[in-house]
Amino acid sequence: MTLENEHCNVVATLRKAGLSRTTQRMAVLKVMIQADGPLSVGEILKRTDLEQRINKVTVYRILSSFKENSIIRELPTDHGMSLYEMACLHNPVHPHFYCKTCRTMSCLPPLRLSQALDWFAGPSTFRIDDVHVHVNGVCRQCQERS
Ligand SMILES: [Zn+2]
Ligand SMILES: [Zn+2]
Ligand SMILES: [Zn+2]
Repeated sequence: MTLENEHCNVVATLRKAGLSRTTQRMAVLKVMIQADGPLSVGEILKRTDLEQRINKVTVYRILSSFKENSIIRELPTDHGMSLYEMACLHNPVHPHFYCKTCRTMSCLPPLRLSQALDWFAGPSTFRIDDVHVHVNGVCRQCQERS
């Protein structure tokens, strides 16, 4: 999880990925950059400026173009609905904790650099594009409620 509210610049990120600056892409990217944790498509839609007149299909299309360009990473959940977070250098690959009760996903601290380097510098026969480490259970809030 990133601590600063705006670690990446919307315009620079799109330029680096070679994506044109449509107002809808910029609105979705701004939401992703300002997010304090992984977001679902529904949450992204809710946080995107209403004036953008953006719909779910558009959000999915924009997210898939961001994913193809390694701007964001997709975090699958066990109920088939993915969550999304920035894949920038401020948010290095890290494991996630998934609460089975309230279905929220939280970011865990990044893997130790030495472990991650072992994976990425591993046999050149692999090309690793994504790493998913999931830790499932019941979060503190849900434990207190039961
Ligand atoms: Zn960033
Ligand atoms: Zn919970
Ligand atoms: Zn995360």
